[in-house]
Amino acid sequence: MIIIMEPGATQAQIDNVVEHLESLDFRININYGEVYTVIAAIGDKRLVQPHSINSFDGVREVKLIQEPFKLASRESKKDDTVIEFSNGVKIGGNNKPVIMAGPCSVEEDFSSLLEIATAAKDAGAEILRGGAFKPRTSPYDFQGMEEKGLKYLKEASEKTGLLVITEVMDTLDLPLVCDYADIVQVGARNMQNFKLLKAIGKCNKPVMLKRGPAASIREFLLAAEHILYNGNENVILCERGIKGFDTHYTRNVLDLASVPVLKKYSHLPVVVDPSHATGKRYLIEPMSKAAIVSGANGLMVEIHNNPDKAYSDGAQSLPLPQFRQLMKHLDCLFKVLDETNDLTTV
Ligand code: PEP
Ligand code: MN
Repeated sequence: MIIIMEPGATQAQIDNVVEHLESLDFRININYGEVYTVIAAIGDKRLVQPHSINSFDGVREVKLIQEPFKLASRESKKDDTVIEFSNGVKIGGNNKPVIMAGPCSVEEDFSSLLEIATAAKDAGAEILRGGAFKPRTSPYDFQGMEEKGLKYLKEASEKTGLLVITEVMDTLDLPLVCDYADIVQVGARNMQNFKLLKAIGKCNKPVMLKRGPAASIREFLLAAEHILYNGNENVILCERGIKGFDTHYTRNVLDLASVPVLKKYSHLPVVVDPSHATGKRYLIEPMSKAAIVSGANGLMVEIHNNPDKAYSDGAQSLPLPQFRQLMKHLDCLFKVLDETNDLTTV
């Protein structure tokens, strides 16, 4: 930690900061400049709140050198985290990007879910997505089929061999969701539901944490840190767009720069969801390709056999033929990136 004192800070003010840090076992190095005095404090900064030093008299700025997200950071783990499933699917590292696809919501008609899942599998997807607990902005919108939806997902998974990812919104539902899901999803709206994050940290299922609509990258990684800190090492990060000011042409702003940033500062796998990021069907293919080129370890895409009749998010759901086409195009991209050894370059 570096503490920059105000120009004209008194020796008493400098001593006060130094004494405080020394009492917390920091080693101190002081550099008296022409204008600024700079204090370098070396030690475990978990013992001190940087903003508490900020408020000491004579302190101008406190700069952290170590990332505040310890377990999620590359500093603590140099190698990429790779999450491996019993059927051989691997997410992260140099592995081929994994495609998660399925309807926004699990709906009443099971045959429709099966048709979607079969098409997803045939096109090369490895994970079936579908919400049984739906975080809806309006209480009048479809809220999800809950356990019946989870049962549908499980059945579709057994029939197709796809793994299942589905959202949990409440700690009370976590044991139930863990019974049916291969990956538990924390939705964007719950990224900072710390009680839920702690509970998920204590369960033994891989989890995909979606970036909050207004969360900075640091807040995103600190949310992941809660899960890691509570014991669950299998965390996937998902960029799904952040709030912008234009809601006419796009639903959110897909922050693709976050992909190489997250991969630079963290060892966790990063997945991109172009569907919730853009809200528009025609934007899914270009943003999927861009996400892969930016280094994403996977994609989550909403697809539907009859998007016009979808219970939720039909406008951003790809019809099945369009999904097949997307997968063909992505395959070409995977080959090119693989040949040029560029799949994971950041
Ligand atoms: C979803 O994936 O079903 C979802 C609701 O997405 P988000 O949390 O990113 O809005
Ligand atoms: Mn959706």
